[in-house]
Amino acid sequence: MSDALERSGGECELCGSNDGVEAVPVAPRPDAIAACATCRAQLAGTAPDASHWLCLQGSAWSEVPAVQVVAWRMLGRLDAGWALELRDQLWLDDDTLAWAKDAATGPAVVDCNGTPLADGDTVTLVKDLDVKGAGFTAKRGTVVKNIRLGDDPGLVEGRVNNTSIYLKTEFIKRA
Ligand SMILES: [Zn+2]
Repeated sequence: MSDALERSGGECELCGSNDGVEAVPVAPRPDAIAACATCRAQLAGTAPDASHWLCLQGSAWSEVPAVQVVAWRMLGRLDAGWALELRDQLWLDDDTLAWAKDAATGPAVVDCNGTPLADGDTVTLVKDLDVKGAGFTAKRGTVVKNIRLGDDPGLVEGRVNNTSIYLKTEFIKRA
């Protein structure tokens, strides 16, 4: 059993759920937290649900640095006043704060299967996409070469029909 699961007694260290709890490394360090299926999906996803993360009002005060880091990062992603206020109240020691800010790049950019994507990769579309403003549909199966990652982990930039467009990562697959 991992240290995190042992420490937490098998409960999610963020919300206390027992559902599908697994150890999740808190990049870029190997230290892990125990997180339930819901929390893991939201940590990896692009649109966290602020109402779920009300749990951080308790767990953000954990004495475990890895939990503090995850809470600090998630509070910064939530579009809610209480989250920003709570984040300001938290006190992370210098080392923990450096860890929290390291990977301020946010969650990894992954395709529809969870495969990591990088600049220059080739991807294929897994569904027809209407390209807003450009007046065409990028067909399922279209190959897009030399993608570029941007600030939003949910989008990559690529060229289709000689037009530079943004593609939702949930609709592309690494070739
Ligand atoms: Zn949880």
